[in-house]
Amino acid sequence: MHYDVIIIGCGVVGAACAYALSGYQLRLGILEASNDVANGTTKANSAIVHGGYDPLPGTKMARLNVVGNAMFPELCRRLDVPFQKIGSLVVSLSEEDDAVLEELLRQGKENRVPGLRILSAEEARSMEPNLSSEVRGALYAPSAGIVNPWELCLAMAETAVKNGAELHLSAPVTAVERCEAGYLLRTPKGDFTARYVLNCAGVTSDRVANLVGDHSFHIHPNKGEYFLLDKAEGTRVGRVIFQCPTKVGKGVLVAPTVHGNLLVGPNAAPTCPGDTANSADGLAFVRASAQRAVPGINFRENIRNFAGVRANSDRDDFIIEESRVAPGFIHLAGIRSPGLTAAPAIGIEALELLKKAGLSLQKKAEFVDSRRRIRFHELSDEEKNELIRQDPRWGRVICRCETVTEGEIVAALHCPIPPVSVNGVKRRVGAGMGRCQGGFCGPRVQEILARELGLDPTQIPMDWEGTWVLCGETKGGAKA
Ligand SMILES: Cc1cc2nc3c(=O)[nH]c(=O)nc-3n(C[C@H](O)[C@H](O)[C@H](O)COP(=O)(O)OP(=O)(O)OC[C@H]3O[C@@H](n4cnc5c(N)ncnc54)[C@H](O)[C@@H]3O)c2cc1C
Repeated sequence: MHYDVIIIGCGVVGAACAYALSGYQLRLGILEASNDVANGTTKANSAIVHGGYDPLPGTKMARLNVVGNAMFPELCRRLDVPFQKIGSLVVSLSEEDDAVLEELLRQGKENRVPGLRILSAEEARSMEPNLSSEVRGALYAPSAGIVNPWELCLAMAETAVKNGAELHLSAPVTAVERCEAGYLLRTPKGDFTARYVLNCAGVTSDRVANLVGDHSFHIHPNKGEYFLLDKAEGTRVGRVIFQCPTKVGKGVLVAPTVHGNLLVGPNAAPTCPGDTANSADGLAFVRASAQRAVPGINFRENIRNFAGVRANSDRDDFIIEESRVAPGFIHLAGIRSPGLTAAPAIGIEALELLKKAGLSLQKKAEFVDSRRRIRFHELSDEEKNELIRQDPRWGRVICRCETVTEGEIVAALHCPIPPVSVNGVKRRVGAGMGRCQGGFCGPRVQEILARELGLDPTQIPMDWEGTWVLCGETKGGAKA
């Protein structure tokens, strides 16, 4: 199959590029290794839309953070993605921290972050009464926010697909060759050619670069672990609470999520791609660090631990450039934090690089730039009754914790990028996101998936391929 442009990887960066490109008249293909979009770092991070005072002035990270941040309110409104502009505080816990706040304020002003100011300890505690009495002051960034990161990725990818992009899942690119048409990309799903290629392969983007003989950068994966606490703790803080950043990251934060939970993490530890295991030491560090800023967090309300892997590189900035050895092969690599925030702006940046590389871009006359999803629990009683009257499945509650109905799950199965796993359903409609974490609804979601996809339940994985839940049926104690 031939495309004008192929995007390798459909995390939030690949999805943002697809979204930006799908407004133009071109054949666009997306090759994703996993069986779903947003199944890499994009689903496991702090979900913060950063203000932009943290990256060094003059870097791509600084510029794209601030531009990306400004795009969120309108983008999320258009694509129906949960986003809340709640603001953030970086708290000072020592005299050295006081100096760091001043430096962050200076950087933030240079990066043109709007509304930044330093608060006294009293002002900070009047905004956030659960802050430690040790807090000496804070840097307030009113433009920071929280978002649902996997839904942002899904929404941009779905919009691209609705506008003609072709998404190939379970299609890892294993080899790249030069050919007359540009590049030939080999995958287990077949071969694809394209004039231009965007390398959005996250933690393994250096390996993808190596496939075209480009060894100009290396990714040094770095893991961050988290606690996700039940909604009972969801109002412990009203804003994102950071501590002062260190050389290895932005430090441990405490933040509400758009789903109403409390998120605490991450630490930072070198790792390898794909290592998302939690460790007792890592979690103990996260817990102790968070309590320095917000001492009253009740960790007995923890419902899930998880880890995400940063695509740290050997360059101190995002790598957004055409390969020096492979013309038309463009890297969007080393996209660590604030990559989620910057992603919408990175999509636009990719357009500019493609134009510079020679791609001619003509706008589509018709571009469908909107998306709506029914969230049953948010509807009025009248709206709920109307849906149930049309289809009784809207009244059958599958996930009791989050009040997700069978109607919502079936609707997700008919969206432009349908889920194929239990966690794929979780990411789309929230079934399994609640206190019991799918203990009750998981098997029922699996049954619905099997029924709607016409598959045997043993063929429905928990998440990516190979994460099987069932391996057969037992009858009278014997394996059938
Ligand atoms: C602990 C942590 C906390 C963070 N917190 C924040 C935050 O609060 N705010 C913020 O702005 N940013 C944050 N980030 C950064 C942000 O999450 C990332 O910058 C962003 O998710 C990167 O997206 P991506 O699309 O580049 O990578 P990914 O989401 O990893 O996507 C890459 C995709 O490429 C696919 N792929 C890989 N190799 C191939 C191949 N050969 N063929 C086909 N497909 C392939 C993968 O399967 C994957 O789906 C955080 C990151 C971490 C790890």
